[in-house]
Amino acid sequence: MDNSGKFYITTPIYYVNARPHIGHAYTTVVCDTIARRQRMMGYDTWFLTGTDEHGQKIERSATAAGCTPKEFADKVSSEFRQLWDRMKLSYNDFIRTTEPRHIKGMQALFKRLQDRGYIYKGSYSGQYCVYDELYVDVTEPGAPCPECGRPTETIREENYFFKLSAMEEPLLRLYTENPDFVRPETRRNEVISFVRGGLRDLSVSRTTFTWGIPVPGDEKHVIYVWLDALANYITALGFGSDDPKDKAKLDRYWPADVHMIGKEIVRFHCVYWPAFLLAADIPLPKSIVAHGWLLFEENKMSKSRGNIVRTETILDTLGADTLRYFLMREIVFGSDGSFSFDALVQRFNSDLANGLGNLSSRTLSMITRYFDGEIPYPSLGARIPADHEIAELANKTISEFHAHFEQFQFSRALETGWGLVAAVNKYIVDNEPWAVAEKDDQDSRARLATILHTSAEALRIVTALVHPVIPESTARIWEQLGLGDIVKLDLRNLAWGQLPLHTKLGKVEAVFPRADKSTVERMQQMEQERSTASTTAIEAESTPPSPTQDTAQKAAVSAAATSPGVGASTITVDDFAKVDLRVGQIKVAEKVKGADKLLRLEVDLGTETRQIVAGIAKAYAPEKLIGRKVVIVANLAPRKLRGLESQGMIVAASIGDDGVPVLAGFLEDVPLGARLK
Ligand SMILES: [Zn+2]
Repeated sequence: MDNSGKFYITTPIYYVNARPHIGHAYTTVVCDTIARRQRMMGYDTWFLTGTDEHGQKIERSATAAGCTPKEFADKVSSEFRQLWDRMKLSYNDFIRTTEPRHIKGMQALFKRLQDRGYIYKGSYSGQYCVYDELYVDVTEPGAPCPECGRPTETIREENYFFKLSAMEEPLLRLYTENPDFVRPETRRNEVISFVRGGLRDLSVSRTTFTWGIPVPGDEKHVIYVWLDALANYITALGFGSDDPKDKAKLDRYWPADVHMIGKEIVRFHCVYWPAFLLAADIPLPKSIVAHGWLLFEENKMSKSRGNIVRTETILDTLGADTLRYFLMREIVFGSDGSFSFDALVQRFNSDLANGLGNLSSRTLSMITRYFDGEIPYPSLGARIPADHEIAELANKTISEFHAHFEQFQFSRALETGWGLVAAVNKYIVDNEPWAVAEKDDQDSRARLATILHTSAEALRIVTALVHPVIPESTARIWEQLGLGDIVKLDLRNLAWGQLPLHTKLGKVEAVFPRADKSTVERMQQMEQERSTASTTAIEAESTPPSPTQDTAQKAAVSAAATSPGVGASTITVDDFAKVDLRVGQIKVAEKVKGADKLLRLEVDLGTETRQIVAGIAKAYAPEKLIGRKVVIVANLAPRKLRGLESQGMIVAASIGDDGVPVLAGFLEDVPLGARLK
């Protein structure tokens, strides 16, 4: 991170074909943490995020959902924004690629590339992957996409092309001369070998659909969605605008200091984006930093596996700071990390409740009790080596914390910070201030003051350091320390010995109440209800594995539910025969207590009656279902929902983005237990 006084950081803009989940939250939290810290380090910081809203996938999803692409994009984009606001993420700007400022800037960039001779018109015929929005190198019509395995479509069209082939040498020079341009090293090597393999010109317009930004002067073409998306990093600052205020902003913040991305979109950011900028003669970003994927209990997170974790579940139970701390502490930045509810609760209890929370509450409550809520004077004569050791460790922690953070080693930085927390908690136990307080003499009183002052000063330092990671709870601890608004703190000057004496503490209260054993179960239940309510009876298990961290285009979420023809790979007759689909009749239907989306059904299969818990309560009143014939998956492994065993699954269509269920049925009468094949 350099020293020019300004700092511009971006997340990828998130593709609105997928609803926000914890993977998106991870990228955004990392950026928010960096942005908050840079502000505290005195940088004029600009933090940009937003949504990517054009392309064929959105057009198709909107059609399937029965709305316009703009309505579809509006809805999902606002979900992202609401979630970020709920998490109090400190972004300065939120750009949408459907905004006029972006469209204008994008067209200006296209024109500039054309004027400089880097865009020409040509024709193309070949295989196209709708999912990846990419032309692919396969010859057979319908052959699987080498990127994602989905069937490709044959496309023949006249396109505008970008002279990517001319950029091979300049790009290789860029990577050699700026070793930090792509980070970490593994991604840099990947990019270099990709470019060394040879670059072909890139098609940058489409005529097969209309949901995009028109090519200036040739409106039947829309601009390639990746060029459109990447340009947000400059259009958000005002590229293409004539307004002097926008020009000043672009001058102030561009080039970006950090483009933060997931590793699956490295090629777009580290090859195409600098190529476009070089061709347009626009300064290059300083650094593109790729993080790993977030796995769920060792598996990739994807909707087809039904293991997407929704951020809301964690916010509802343990709060935003717990999620932030977990993501920054548990995942070694740059590598893949694993999420599980057990690990989350364990981290919360050990590091936050028992660690920082305990340090804070016992230090501050003893100061309240023994010194009437005023920071006491640490008498020089009463000091022992253990006090000095804490002071030294605190100063060492400050410099190590900064060093790790600058290297994006967030996990190690936090480990260092919690090393101090553990040391001070041990110091308190060893020095037994509660026992010292029992004695009435002058020396004991001075000793007590020193112990509590030392603890409070260490608490102040660790609170300041980790504020960018857990902003809400540290702001509360800061207020309890009587220090006012933590945001105003200048982190550059942080050192031991700055705690003002006789400061009056604020109201002391627990910041991290311990989470009990039921927390994990409660979160799992919330997740199950959320997914039961939003997926169809038959989950698309046939969807090929896709990236977990769908930071931009690579939506992990299968499009199968909303886009017919997209993402549906084939299965054999034998595969289908494994699913035992039967006709049944609903005999009992009732609401499930405490779950407004679930119904408990008893379904007669002719030979037996099954209890099935179905997420259809919002669409069907229980009394209307009695006597209705339905299709059930009879050989599904039983699972528990809200403590009730569900012995099978009801088949329903899922309509629109909200997945409104519509039960499958028959026009003719069918006997109970009949098998569908
Ligand atoms: Zn593909």
